[in-house]
Amino acid sequence: MAANQVDIIVVGLGAMGAAALYQASQRGARALGIDRYDPPHTLGSSHGDTRITRLAIGEGEMYMPFIQRANQIWAELEAKRGCELFHQSGGLIIAPEKGAAKFHAEGDFVEISARIASKFGIAHEILDAAQIAQRFPLLTPRDCDHAYYEPESGVLRPERCIQTQLELALAGHADIRTCEVVVDYRADADGVTVWTDKDRYRAGKLILCAGAWMSELLPAPNRGDLRVCRQVIYWYEARNLRLFDPSVFPYVIWIGDAPEDFWSTFPAPPDGVPGVKVLSEQYHTSAEVHAISREVTPAEIADMHQRLTVQRLRGTTGRTVRADVCLYTVTRDEHFIIDFHPQSRRVVMASPCSGHGFKHSAAIGEALAQMALDGGAELNVDGFAISRL
Ligand SMILES: Cc1cc2nc3c(=O)[nH]c(=O)nc-3n(C[C@H](O)[C@H](O)[C@H](O)COP(=O)(O)OP(=O)(O)OC[C@H]3O[C@@H](n4cnc5c(N)ncnc54)[C@H](O)[C@@H]3O)c2cc1C
Repeated sequence: MAANQVDIIVVGLGAMGAAALYQASQRGARALGIDRYDPPHTLGSSHGDTRITRLAIGEGEMYMPFIQRANQIWAELEAKRGCELFHQSGGLIIAPEKGAAKFHAEGDFVEISARIASKFGIAHEILDAAQIAQRFPLLTPRDCDHAYYEPESGVLRPERCIQTQLELALAGHADIRTCEVVVDYRADADGVTVWTDKDRYRAGKLILCAGAWMSELLPAPNRGDLRVCRQVIYWYEARNLRLFDPSVFPYVIWIGDAPEDFWSTFPAPPDGVPGVKVLSEQYHTSAEVHAISREVTPAEIADMHQRLTVQRLRGTTGRTVRADVCLYTVTRDEHFIIDFHPQSRRVVMASPCSGHGFKHSAAIGEALAQMALDGGAELNVDGFAISRL
């Protein structure tokens, strides 16, 4: 049992867990990370080659300290490993000029993003439809559309971010167990016992960030606080992929007249998946995580191209080069959970998904490690308390 005794155990090594394990190891803790698969993998919420990262966070000002800190950490990681985790492509949030453009939070997302950008001194412009089409000729907005444009933001490479942090955690003497499922845990006065399908471990502190499987590890009264929604990422063949390079093509968040009109597209880094990534969001159907279909059907591929893509974007054929299922784990208010377990401050819980967590994950991991090891986070996590749900 002594070999299985550590300072801190991190359950789930996706975006949040990889960051938490890295940060815990940086603080000199004997840290153990456990994952049911072999991360970075394609079965959770953190795969798909690119993730949008914005500077003005329209989901709310409480996220601003997280994005600022996360961006510092991404840059530190790039310097440490000599790799590119971020591509500055700039990005657009397009929405009809009249009407509340709701996305991930209450209120008009274009207006809120612009207000936060002004307050925090973030470079931005509001473009009308003609300006959008003139600057980005692959996009075909309607006359009624306008956009918030943020030139200094871009996309992160999620698998590389996870891999880099796991490698640095290992170099910092963390231990990692993959293909091992945590089935139970119990906190007592002296520590926490964790049972997996293979072994039993003992730690001073425990961080739970199991993504779409998180409900299984939450206290019983909170299990209904999270829903898992199946999403699909499509990469369509481009007629000329160079036109989608991050140096010339921005990410686009396109909010339509109704929630089902939401659509997003991404720049294609030269060493990434050789296609144009597009996706939408669906919240109407939730699913049991172990029963989710991982197959993307020809009907889904055709629908995404014909219903949402062709009237907004030039330059793709209807053929996919790849299509993946990815999972949103959502709370009722679409904000995160970052909190201590209601029954024990030895256990920290994080469910920062709802479709907008990746960009903050480096800072969330740091906050989780601080909560576990120091008793509290430097950044304010009050807005993410589980009791609000
Ligand atoms: C299609 C899609 C697009 C998105 N786009 C963006 C975007 O553009 N920008 C952005 O900021 N965010 C985006 N997000 C959200 C972001 O990707 C998520 O917030 C983030 O990846 C969630 O990370 P996580 O660590 O919570 O989950 P995951 O990365 O899924 O990690 C959870 C890990 O826990 C492991 N695990 C689960 N149960 C157990 C167990 N019992 N024992 C051991 N291990 C376990 C899993 O194997 C997994 O590795 C998007 C999400 C999706 C699905």
